[in-house]
Amino acid sequence: MTDAPLRVGATIGILGGGQLGRMLAVAASRLGLRTHVFEPAANPPAADVAHRVTTAPYEDAQALAAFAASVDVVTYEFENIPTSALDLLESLRPIRPNRRALAISQDRLLEKTFLNGEGLATAPWCSVEDAGDLATALDRIGTPAILKTTRLGYDGKGQARIMAPEDAAEALAAMAGQPAVLEGFIDFSREISVIAARGPGGEIAAYDPGENVHKAGILHTTTVPAHISPTLRSDAVLVAARILNALGYVGVMGVELFVTPKGLIVNEIAPRVHNSGHWTQNACAVDQFEQHIRAVAGWPLGDGSRFADVEMLNLIGDDVLRVPALAREAGTAIHLYGKAEARPGRKMGHVNRVKPLRAGSARG
Ligand code: AMP
Repeated sequence: MTDAPLRVGATIGILGGGQLGRMLAVAASRLGLRTHVFEPAANPPAADVAHRVTTAPYEDAQALAAFAASVDVVTYEFENIPTSALDLLESLRPIRPNRRALAISQDRLLEKTFLNGEGLATAPWCSVEDAGDLATALDRIGTPAILKTTRLGYDGKGQARIMAPEDAAEALAAMAGQPAVLEGFIDFSREISVIAARGPGGEIAAYDPGENVHKAGILHTTTVPAHISPTLRSDAVLVAARILNALGYVGVMGVELFVTPKGLIVNEIAPRVHNSGHWTQNACAVDQFEQHIRAVAGWPLGDGSRFADVEMLNLIGDDVLRVPALAREAGTAIHLYGKAEARPGRKMGHVNRVKPLRAGSARG
């Protein structure tokens, strides 16, 4: 593939068949593009809507090669894809966003080193491999602090809070021998995120920052506009743009930030469409899924303006039982992922509650 835009009828390969893959596939089909989803699990949410699905493990070199041969470009809906699969795919087709973005977001040490190197603030941090490192790190950073596995953490998994030095041994045990990072606890006033996109030519489009509330480590609501000053709003977008440019990024990224009296602190970056960007589906002409597909396909980006205020509410586990009542609410758009079984903690869908723009509420 050159940098020429994908033609209508071309195929985008998506690694991962969860709800993000599903919504990417819907967006691609609206643009006249096809999707081929590669997913180890049978009957994933994306299978209902993708043009083609390969069910195979990421270790299956033959299946990966056949997948690559059938697509024009490869993208992904989650970041923890085995390196060996990426090495093979990259030798056959372009991967967007690029490998560097993926490598950085897979590893909290690389991520923080990269962000600090760009002059962006993170929580104070120390690498921790054993009890000795943890004692030294706690001396430096103090308590409260959070110990996080370096790799494979999401939705608050692989994390342990250390409220006092006596909690250290238990927190280290929770890492199950995996390398970890100790982070100082940030006393933030709000959590926000910016969803931003960069095209192959370097153009950038960002959405208005959303304000996120988590419950039990899982995103609960995103409210837009965030309750922050216009200055912080533009600071947040500038942080995201800096990251995208530094990585030569192509696609949509989610940047999670803590708001503190001293300014913004980057919590983490996700090199993909993001749960905290689902509100764009009903408050923007071009949502984050279409934006990602446009970027990956080399099409011009849509602009990120929003025409409504909105609250996105995640439907986790049994929350999905509320759908009949939610369906009666005016201004509420329902998005379900087609998952049969509502297990605790499982993301079943979300709703976007859309309200007319408040006077004076800034647009993205
Ligand atoms: P993460 O998986 O790193 O995004 O963390 C999940 C959630 O834990 C965040 O959204 C915050 O609410 C909280 N959290 C993570 N790191 C910190 C920190 N250094 N200080 C305070 N809260 C944190």
